[in-house]
Amino acid sequence: MNRYWSKLVGGLDPYVPGEQPQDQQYIKLNTNESPYPPAPGVEQVLKNFAIDRLRRYPDPQSSQLIAALADYHGLKSQQVFVGNGSDEVLAHAFQAFFKKDEPILFPDICYSFYPVYCALYEIDFDRIALDDSFRIDLAGYRRANGGIIIPNPNAPTGIALGLAELRELLADNPEAVVIIDEAYVDFGTDSASQLNAEFDNLLVVQTYSKSRNLAGLRLGYALGHEQLIEALQRIKNSFNSYPVNSLTSAIGLASLADEAYFNECKQRVIASRERLTRALTGLGFEVFPSSANFVFVRHPTNAAESLYLGLKASGILVRYFKTPRIDNCLRITIGTEAECDALIEALKKILS
Ligand SMILES: *Cc1c(COP(=O)(O)O)cnc(C)c1O
Repeated sequence: MNRYWSKLVGGLDPYVPGEQPQDQQYIKLNTNESPYPPAPGVEQVLKNFAIDRLRRYPDPQSSQLIAALADYHGLKSQQVFVGNGSDEVLAHAFQAFFKKDEPILFPDICYSFYPVYCALYEIDFDRIALDDSFRIDLAGYRRANGGIIIPNPNAPTGIALGLAELRELLADNPEAVVIIDEAYVDFGTDSASQLNAEFDNLLVVQTYSKSRNLAGLRLGYALGHEQLIEALQRIKNSFNSYPVNSLTSAIGLASLADEAYFNECKQRVIASRERLTRALTGLGFEVFPSSANFVFVRHPTNAAESLYLGLKASGILVRYFKTPRIDNCLRITIGTEAECDALIEALKKILS
């Protein structure tokens, strides 16, 4: 605690992202990035982008990008909000909707950024325990609350709720905003955005970082009722008028335009996930059923921390959380076929 710091800053316990080593070359299976390059159209944007556009401020409304996203999701432009990564969109949403008298609710095991936003914005929260097989139990969300946020599929478990369960959750909580964080939705579950017409308390958040192979771009967005979107704009326009730069907007449009490439990449990831699941099961791992671009696993006899360290020593990074309930699990991002093979070979050596 420095004497110039505010009490708030002194009390923060900031989010720690997965390792991004800048020195050694690792096989990186630790931060759920895509192993495939962005769509070919993205490279064209970078080659042809009129440099003079960078002299000027970008469109503060990101109108073109928002119109394209609205069209893609079958919504009106007034139902779409864009930001500098979905982390920023989520931060604005916490501030816009979750500063309430009652605590907000989220699973005890989920995206560890949520409690960090709560501390930053001084929001109370209660964690609702996943059951023993790491599934969300909707009964825990039937109580007074100031809002609900759930990643679907959940991270780091990879387990998804179906549309019927999401509908039940929304119907149970008409007084609160329910945010469904869909960072991994494209890898095998239904988007709650189909329910936007039915529920004015639903906010769906998606990102270009995982399924669009563009984590470095920092582009995320929210879909929801016009009045929820207006609240996000009010926060954004009180914070930063230009969160999405002109190059990011152009790249975002190009990525969205190539549906065939998008589908091909996610099908490859899903196929590799199924193959990796079989191989890990063959090595004795328990693999939780994943609808995401990662698998969550544990071994009956080998401690996760030592497996993590052993893999790191062999040049492979996976994610290990030293957190209650999951400190004997590893989260492994789906890499290319060759990267998955290298992981299996390294594990065979470590286990033998
Ligand atoms: C990766 C991730 C995000 C953050 O995505 P960005 O758009 O890169 O900021 C948000 N929520 C969950 C659950 C994630 O895994």
